[in-house]
Amino acid sequence: MEIQSVGIVGAGQMGNGIAHVFALAGYDVLMTDISQDSLDKAIALIDRNIERQVARGKVTAEAKAAAMARIGSTLTLADLGACDLIIEAATERETVKNAIFEDLLPHLKPHTILTSNTSSISITRLASRTDRPEKFMGFHFMNPVPVMQLVELIRGIATDKATYETLSGVVTRLGKTAASAEDFPAFIVNRILMPMINEAVYTLYEGVGNVRSIDESLKLGANHPMGPLELADFIGLDTCLAIMNVLHEGLADTKYRPCPLLTKYVEAGWLGRKTGRGFYDYSGAVPVPTR
Ligand code: NAD
Repeated sequence: MEIQSVGIVGAGQMGNGIAHVFALAGYDVLMTDISQDSLDKAIALIDRNIERQVARGKVTAEAKAAAMARIGSTLTLADLGACDLIIEAATERETVKNAIFEDLLPHLKPHTILTSNTSSISITRLASRTDRPEKFMGFHFMNPVPVMQLVELIRGIATDKATYETLSGVVTRLGKTAASAEDFPAFIVNRILMPMINEAVYTLYEGVGNVRSIDESLKLGANHPMGPLELADFIGLDTCLAIMNVLHEGLADTKYRPCPLLTKYVEAGWLGRKTGRGFYDYSGAVPVPTR
């Protein structure tokens, strides 16, 4: 199936990055969010991020102008009904995602493919609540989307071959690489990454190291480009906690128990970069460790 128009639900960190890469690849993009402020910030951020690519000679000024002209935004979810492909990239909460699909379904064309960018939630379960489980898939982009090469493709138990092949073709057109993952909690990348981040928070909680020593240890001792706590702040601590909860509940193994300190940061509203404070304080010119 030929995809031309893409509707993106949620214009946060992931939604804006997804809109950016689809518009540059020539797709028509329509973004929606519950907040006009998020939509305005997303458009401004995409403009700034593509401008940086222009400055580095990776994108021409004409391609940037054409991409920006392809991106629209709306507060009305039903406006996405005309799109060929929907990518849901709202908050990592199953009730939020279910409500979005329920509101959207009556407005969709029969051929429209529905996807979720969820980091961890069961694709089979999300799909079962819709009228098209065979046209439903996990479409998991990595953060930051314009930079990261991988896209995880997750088939639910009912996903058909045509849907999978269509999305594989989309990944190729975006110039990215697809990896197939089975539909089990957190798929491949976060099944491995998130317990490491959670363990870094336990290491902090138990006083084995402080924020700086833990991050430096993994950067210099394991050659990771970012320390685990810095990475947690980048992902969003609410998203990290939500993924650990899905692993803990879905696999029923205590090794996935979310660290109480991670829970406490989320309860405080210290969600990382997006709120200006997490394991680091981002209010000054350089991030300052909070512990
Ligand atoms: P975010 O908090 O930056 O953005 C979420 C956006 O969803 C917000 O703008 C919010 O207003 C909007 N939203 C909430 N409820 C909505 C609704 N009912 N309708 C429309 N919009 C709604 O979060 P994010 O980091 O962009 O994560 C979004 C999704 O992407 C999550 O499922 C997350 O697990 C997944 N994801 C995140 C990362 C990451 O590194 N942050 C990586 C891959 C996938």
